[in-house]
Amino acid sequence: MTQEREDYRILHEAALRDYLAGLPDLKTLLGGDPAHWAITEVGDGNLNLVFIVKGTNGGIAVKQALPYVRLVGESWPLPLSRAHYEYLALSKQAELASGLVPALLHHNEALALTVMELLEPHIIMRKGLVAGTQYPGFVDDITTFMARTLFFTSDLALSAAEKKEGIAAFAGNHALCKITEDLIFTDPYRIAEQNRWTAPYLDGLAAELRDDMDLHVAISRLKLKFMASPEALLHGDLHTGSIMVTESQTRVIDPEFAFYGPMGFDVGAVLANLLMAYFASAGHERAPGERAAFEAWVLQTVETVWSEFARKFLELWRAQGTGDAYPISLFAGEKGAARLEAERQAYMQRLFTETVGFAAAKIIRRIFGLAHNIDFELIEDARKRAVSEARAVRLARGMMVEAAAFRVIADVTGAARKLKDWQPELSG
Ligand code: ADP
Ligand code: MG
Repeated sequence: MTQEREDYRILHEAALRDYLAGLPDLKTLLGGDPAHWAITEVGDGNLNLVFIVKGTNGGIAVKQALPYVRLVGESWPLPLSRAHYEYLALSKQAELASGLVPALLHHNEALALTVMELLEPHIIMRKGLVAGTQYPGFVDDITTFMARTLFFTSDLALSAAEKKEGIAAFAGNHALCKITEDLIFTDPYRIAEQNRWTAPYLDGLAAELRDDMDLHVAISRLKLKFMASPEALLHGDLHTGSIMVTESQTRVIDPEFAFYGPMGFDVGAVLANLLMAYFASAGHERAPGERAAFEAWVLQTVETVWSEFARKFLELWRAQGTGDAYPISLFAGEKGAARLEAERQAYMQRLFTETVGFAAAKIIRRIFGLAHNIDFELIEDARKRAVSEARAVRLARGMMVEAAAFRVIADVTGAARKLKDWQPELSG
């Protein structure tokens, strides 16, 4: 432990070049004289350094954790161990959903540094969505990723011992969980220094949120669910800024928030970010026909992300449900099989309700909390931005407080569609 602390140093360009030149496999992969490798820092995330290194043969991405939150600075320390959990999660995801995460090339625990496949020409999906790009392969890829990583790390697939070993392996990542617990499940609903919103237009809405006890109960139930339900290994931060895409490929990156938690948190994150892309679309320049096509595609994608996820998850459960939960010996014969199938449907309905609630939480935090997203932020006209945001918040409040009233995913997209031209009352 002390040894690790002593060895840690931030590898900026020159030190990184020397470090990589000392690793024969990576040196060969890059090719050419290390002095000529092109090294650029591309980290646009909130927490870490990311370098792209290119030689004459190929390129790599190098991610190093800093001992503090990059977005805020040294005043907010954060453990380097998150690099260990990210590496552990990436390894597990590569095993369960191969081809859907970047290949791992090297990891140095003491340096909190991971080298991985350079994703090129992939871009961050959120940027593509802001530009109005459609991704026809996204639904199939992301639902395979979620169904397989969630199912195979759950009690439906694992023995009780394996499951508990899994929980233990990630239990130490609590500092990252605490960020989620504060920034998503608490701060947006109270006065907090780091909150911000599109002022003055959303001042009234922000005050309403702080006074809305139905909402405070709903977000607190979700927070408890997040803290106390180790159902499966979550990615933990599965927004469209953690997904890199081309028109035909999808890669999930950045699982440093990974831990055993409730499945609906990951699924809800994907749905929330698509719904925000939908509401933000009104504020972005688009050719007339393209706008309608893009918005229709986004809502269609919300629907199929849920329906395909549910279909694949159930298929895995039926074929490979050999975990210690729901012992097959209790559901013998035709009668047993029918009851178990009904129970699977009930399980998915419960998961859907939780997914709807978590999606709502993810929307509200991006509008009133610390970390905003470019879907909204790139709408320059603040009034226009506030209109898009207020529509998203109205949907989210309903989804959180009355999650169970949304029986099927079309209830969510239907409610979103109804708010498309709604004119909110703004402050200021
Ligand atoms: P953070 O944890 O700080 O959010 P990310 O893992 O999200 O860091 O990476 C930050 C940025 O670096 C990403 O938005 C992306 O642009 C770039 N990036 C990360 N991993 C890769 C990769 N394997 N290939 C290419 N670019 C990458
Ligand atoms: Mg990130």
